[in-house]
Amino acid sequence: MGEKWRQRLPQIRRQVRRERLLLLLLTIVGVIALVSGVAWVPVVFAWALLVIVVLLRKPDEATAPVPVVVEEDVLIYDPLPPIAATLGAYDTPGFVLANDASVLFQNRAAEVAFGSLPFGSHLTARIRSPGILDMVRDAIASDEPDQLEHSERLPSERVFIARIAPIPVVEPEGMSISADRRKLYLLSFRDISELRRLDRMRSDFVANASHELRTPLASLRGFIETLQGPAKGDPAAQERFLSIMLEQATRMSRLVDDLMSLSRLELKSHIAPDQRIDLKPVLSHVRDALLPLSDDLGVEIRMHLPQEPVEVLGDRDELVQVFENLIENACKYGQDGKVVDVHLKGGGDEPAEVTVIDRGPGIPPEHVPRLTERFYRVSVADSRSKKGTGLGLAIVKHILTRHRARLIVRSQVGEGSEFTVRF
Ligand code: ADP
Repeated sequence: MGEKWRQRLPQIRRQVRRERLLLLLLTIVGVIALVSGVAWVPVVFAWALLVIVVLLRKPDEATAPVPVVVEEDVLIYDPLPPIAATLGAYDTPGFVLANDASVLFQNRAAEVAFGSLPFGSHLTARIRSPGILDMVRDAIASDEPDQLEHSERLPSERVFIARIAPIPVVEPEGMSISADRRKLYLLSFRDISELRRLDRMRSDFVANASHELRTPLASLRGFIETLQGPAKGDPAAQERFLSIMLEQATRMSRLVDDLMSLSRLELKSHIAPDQRIDLKPVLSHVRDALLPLSDDLGVEIRMHLPQEPVEVLGDRDELVQVFENLIENACKYGQDGKVVDVHLKGGGDEPAEVTVIDRGPGIPPEHVPRLTERFYRVSVADSRSKKGTGLGLAIVKHILTRHRARLIVRSQVGEGSEFTVRF
């Protein structure tokens, strides 16, 4: 019992110091009561009771300074709560580690990415990567920051930059930090999966574009060599080869035009167009421009336009490009169906909608979500034979994104396809 009180003594002393004004006031009131003739028993009793209440009073939370634990006569500062509070607000996974690599705190993002860990468990309970564990051990030993790239396969493929760094902990004046909190480390993970995906897309794109250009180039070279050699004195062969060469050169320039179109669109993708455009004359213009092609293919383009104008905010040339692509595809790939229907709806308060319907072979469902990817074709040979570059729908998607419009594709194999642009 005596031992316990001795332990509490510094705490009581500190409370007396903190409440000295109140205690002085209570004592003065007591003395005045005694001097004025009030019986001493109730006065002393009331005074003692109030003193006990004052000494048991907890300090006001709002005025409590930095997180401290009082141990004997020394104020112990715990640096973990403010660090945890700050890290808790971050949306990237982060762990606070002690110098034995036990986890003192993990934020919500770390819980989501790696699962939750009980306080004080070792990092190995969640992170098995030998690379990260070695890095953590070395960083703790050397007190130097370090980082490495770390890939996760499950639940989905992700790439992180894992970084460990010592957290500078400063001892506030007059306080001390307990030995186990003196050195803390932050292990953080920066998700770079999206960056990697974009990198891969970019290099795939360059590889695809080079491949598409290399084929006609190789064929042109082959024909030039033949014209210089074996076909030198053969005018009939020369005639035939020159027309194939013209076709290959045209294919290359179509590809270059489409690539330029895509890069121009990418440059201004964030600027929304602001001209008011009536879609009726745009669609009629596209139909007229495609008449030679549709006649060649034996396809009739039927227009279903309302009486009233249907206006949208847009860029006329780009909208022409969108509908040219969609109607041309419908004529080329839906040639067997013989007719292509173009419906225009909306206007006024209703959203404008253009639907291009063909009765061709349709598109198998597994291909539909990928049609707007660059160079994606259901059948490469089929697209090439129809003078396709595989970039048409990618251009359409880019233009529609800039117009805040959507492309909706519905298709039934054997029945045809329906491409709807909804503004
Ligand atoms: P391409 O230059 O090859 O026509 P697009 O980007 O315009 O490129 O179209 C991509 C692919 O989508 C085409 O190669 C074709 O396989 C398919 N496709 C597009 N429109 C239709 C359609 N109306 N019917 C069937 N398949 C289509």
